[in-house]
Amino acid sequence: MLNRLNPKEWYERLWQIPINELVEKGIKGVIVDLDNTLVPWRGDPSQASDKLHKWLEGLKKLKLDICIVSNGGSSRVREFAENLGIKFVAGVPKPRRTPFKKAMALMGTSPEETVVIGDQLFTDILGGNRCGCYTILVTPQAKKEFFSTKIVRRIERKVILRLQREGVFPERKGEAE
Ligand SMILES: [Mg+2]
Repeated sequence: MLNRLNPKEWYERLWQIPINELVEKGIKGVIVDLDNTLVPWRGDPSQASDKLHKWLEGLKKLKLDICIVSNGGSSRVREFAENLGIKFVAGVPKPRRTPFKKAMALMGTSPEETVVIGDQLFTDILGGNRCGCYTILVTPQAKKEFFSTKIVRRIERKVILRLQREGVFPERKGEAE
């Protein structure tokens, strides 16, 4: 169970993930979480930073497809995705495989060609690993989140400590902003 929660890499922020390295790994599609990954929790599209826009441009230039998979409300996720001009899947909660499979179908990628990027081990990373995708954890952008998520974070911290002690958890790369 625990190794299913282990991401392959860990970055402070989404836009610090080197796109060229993803391409070298054979990645063709990017599944990305919304809250606390693309923007702070409950953030609106206007909060998408210049760094994020630049990173998304970089993906397009290298012909990588991108799809938001979020447990957030469908209408908000739709508005966000349409604003950024990218695909999205909402309405089926992670870590179920269904939303990830839907996203891969939309992008036309196989699990080996897909990276899942998100800020939670029990939804994003577990779901991505269950589907056989490459998984990258990012540090949450804001401390604000659902009360239930705050409780999950305590368990998450214990899992990370244990995996770090086993020497299998990836080193954190990038810098806090
Ligand atoms: Mg999130």
